[in-house]
Amino acid sequence: MLNPPNPRYYGTEHEAFRATVRRFAEREIAPHADAWDEAGQFPRELYKSAAAIGLLGTGFPEEYGGTPCDHFHGLVLAEELARRGGSGGVSASLMSHTIGAPPIVAGGSAELKARVLPGILAGEKISALAVTEAGGGSDVAQLATTARREGDHYAVNGSKMFITSGMRADWYTVAVRTGGPGASGVSLLLVERDTPGFTRTGLRKMGWWASDTAALYFDDCRVPASNLIGGEGQAFPLIMRNFNGERLSLAASACGFAQACLDDAAEYARQRKTFGQPLIGHQVIRHKLVDMVERIEATRALLDDLAARLDAGEQPVAQTAMAKNYAARTMQFCADAAVQILGGSGYMRGVRVERIYREVKVMMIGGGAEEILKDLAARQLGF
Ligand SMILES: Cc1cc2nc3c(=O)[nH]c(=O)nc-3n(C[C@H](O)[C@H](O)[C@H](O)COP(=O)(O)OP(=O)(O)OC[C@H]3O[C@@H](n4cnc5c(N)ncnc54)[C@H](O)[C@@H]3O)c2cc1C
Repeated sequence: MLNPPNPRYYGTEHEAFRATVRRFAEREIAPHADAWDEAGQFPRELYKSAAAIGLLGTGFPEEYGGTPCDHFHGLVLAEELARRGGSGGVSASLMSHTIGAPPIVAGGSAELKARVLPGILAGEKISALAVTEAGGGSDVAQLATTARREGDHYAVNGSKMFITSGMRADWYTVAVRTGGPGASGVSLLLVERDTPGFTRTGLRKMGWWASDTAALYFDDCRVPASNLIGGEGQAFPLIMRNFNGERLSLAASACGFAQACLDDAAEYARQRKTFGQPLIGHQVIRHKLVDMVERIEATRALLDDLAARLDAGEQPVAQTAMAKNYAARTMQFCADAAVQILGGSGYMRGVRVERIYREVKVMMIGGGAEEILKDLAARQLGF
């Protein structure tokens, strides 16, 4: 077997979970990935079937329908969904609650949590996170959408951009400005989809076609004050903590997609014949495959180390940022090599590596762009 999971970290419980995720992704996602890409969405029922086998609840508190677990389960989930499902768009939207819901868990009132989390973890309601704005995504402290307190409501005005699950989410965890300039003026508000004054427009994109990315508009949208997550001006630590979780899971996804590229390229190279021998008989091709394995193994080792540190209670912020960058570059390298090995076939719509190739750049931009994460790592490392 190519680069098997490190037995130092992955026990029978993790491997049983891996088998569950794998079965789900191979049966419920992979056969439909092309059709869903072309349709620009996937059926809502997929949330319920993922919830039914515990995928949506992974890492969430038991009292709301979740299953608390270590960080290796999180890695397994993101990596297997990517490797076996083969669709970044499906992974992103199906799991958008992993960025929308953690701030509710960490900062929401008991009433708010009981009201919204069970439905989200049961796959009945979709959760999204809305931080980025058209005026700027990286510089979160400068966000301009305002929420003005009026009695027992907030009046929200402004807009959000590039929001995953933006068209059909039921609950939006929205970063708003309730106070003065800078990070200390930022709060999080939970906005329900049918709130008057809240509208959405779908966006077409390079990849992640199956994901309903949207621009959100708030025009005097009145949100109950009880939907405030954490106190006023308390959002920044929640948002930053959330980013770390998102980066770890994007990195594991990127590693899974890189592995999918390797799987497909190795299989093709064994079957395809050129100049009287299988493609894999040519040293140049074997070297390309080894180059892919090298990077995937290094990425997985980084991720395993990160998960072990997180489970030990460390907060490896710089290492998380660097691992996300490294994993995205691994995916970029492997997608490029796989399309090249498949030749013309790799360039055709409906071929998995073609889709993954289109999905590389979002991994280098979303959840903190490469340059921003290097800056973060540099600050953390004291450079
Ligand atoms: C498909 C997709 C889905 C997304 N989903 C979500 C979502 O669900 N929720 C959400 O809130 N956001 C989402 N985003 C937004 C994403 O997080 C942002 O695009 C990202 O943070 C970058 O912000 P920006 O696009 O505004 O780029 P900008 O901040 O304008 O930056 C543009 C470029 O300049 C670089 N740059 C910026 N500042 C510096 C600097 N100081 N030094 C050097 N380089 C710099 C950046 O790295 C980037 O390459 C999504 C984006 C995409 C494409």
